[in-house]
Amino acid sequence: MINSGAYSNLTDTIAAVTTPHGRGGTGVVRVCGPKALFIADKVFCLPNNIPPSQCASHTIHFGRVVENGSVIDECLLSIMKAPRTYSGQDTVELSLHGGPMPLKLTLACCIRAGARQAGPGEFTYRAFALGKIDLAQAEAVCDLISAKTEAASKASLRALEGALSEKITAWRNDLISLLMRLETTIDHAGEDFIPITPPQLKAASEALRNGIAMLLQSYAKARHLRCGIRVVICGRPNVGKSSLMNALLERERAIVSNVPGTTRDTIEEHMDICGIEVVITDTAGLRRTSNDAIEAQGFERARKAMGGADVALWVVDGSQPLNSDDNSVGALIRETSLLARTIILVNKNDLPQQINTTPLPAANKIINISCTKASGLDSIGRSIVECVTDAPAGPEIIMVNERHCSALKNADLALSEAENAIAQGATEDLLAFHVREALDYLGEITGATADEEILSKIFSNFCIGK
Ligand code: GDP
Repeated sequence: MINSGAYSNLTDTIAAVTTPHGRGGTGVVRVCGPKALFIADKVFCLPNNIPPSQCASHTIHFGRVVENGSVIDECLLSIMKAPRTYSGQDTVELSLHGGPMPLKLTLACCIRAGARQAGPGEFTYRAFALGKIDLAQAEAVCDLISAKTEAASKASLRALEGALSEKITAWRNDLISLLMRLETTIDHAGEDFIPITPPQLKAASEALRNGIAMLLQSYAKARHLRCGIRVVICGRPNVGKSSLMNALLERERAIVSNVPGTTRDTIEEHMDICGIEVVITDTAGLRRTSNDAIEAQGFERARKAMGGADVALWVVDGSQPLNSDDNSVGALIRETSLLARTIILVNKNDLPQQINTTPLPAANKIINISCTKASGLDSIGRSIVECVTDAPAGPEIIMVNERHCSALKNADLALSEAENAIAQGATEDLLAFHVREALDYLGEITGATADEEILSKIFSNFCIGK
């Protein structure tokens, strides 16, 4: 864990490689702090010899990184003078050739010129400490970097832009004014003040808790953004499960064979469907009567995968009548309570159709497809997302961060205790205590009341260079 106490010294100038390790087209060394421009003057040479510190802010210059007369690399230098920078302090960024050596040597050069190596998240910590962003926004930076899908990245970007912070700050302001009215009542009991009545306080608390409930709901809905949708492909042997997996992935991942029982284990792959991460598992063909021990084990794994799935893709063979193995699959889907979230895929519709789908149980949807001809596959992704009906959409705030969720739950609990206390005719002192508690929990989200331990925990999750 970082020592955010060390971070609180904002007079140091810090430097780090901000791009990932390894080779790339370009790599960046960022220097930030009061001596950033002085360090740029020492390590960077413009062709016209003008010191970078004399250049206008928010300009980019071609030049060389030079130490003791020896050239380390050619690079572009971005000059960003405070306060219009990410951290709020003077910042320079050297965009070098993206090999480990130019980056390492340039960073060492900056450190010899007076910078110190930045710790994890230290640039962002400075932005927080200097009031450029609040804690919820700082965490949104981290969430954005680790977002695996477009939808998750959009939700984090909204938080980074301050949508969540604005809402929390507005709620805190409401609570502060309630608290002031309560404290006025306490301090001036018996005097000529209009006290806040218990029903007024109750109504205010209920309104706020409604808002909190909506935000908490968005967190539950966003589970798929955080964890992805788990989709299991199931069906009796030889109906085309592996072919479907390959067709969805648009490559040969699973072995396709006309010998029943070829897929004996489960195969798992990640894909992005409609901006949401989908973890898709191809299971062994489900046959209850198999005498093959390995196949039987595969069956058990398939059952387990189905138990943990959000959506089932049940493949049946349209070129053949349904048989007892299909019925067994249906029974297993019912057993694992997946039916409402099952999409039945009637495969092989390029062949003459012999199937009668009437006896199939009422699933979420039936789609006719052909894996061989790649037809009907386009709508599967959208149907998967629709199956988990709570898929987030629209411009509303979606909370994706677990810490924010638990702070919000605590604030809600404190307000519900305030409401209970009102019902029991408690004193204003006790009511004020609960309201203050709710205020503090909300403050933990934006950082208004977050302590050192919370800060250390949050910033230690960042990568170095952010
Ligand atoms: P699994 O046992 O359910 O995984 O089935 P496979 O994907 O291994 O496919 C079994 C057989 O059906 C293979 O010979 C495939 O080529 C064939 N097959 C799969 N999908 C289609 C399809 O859409 N049309 C036709 N005609 N054959 C298919």
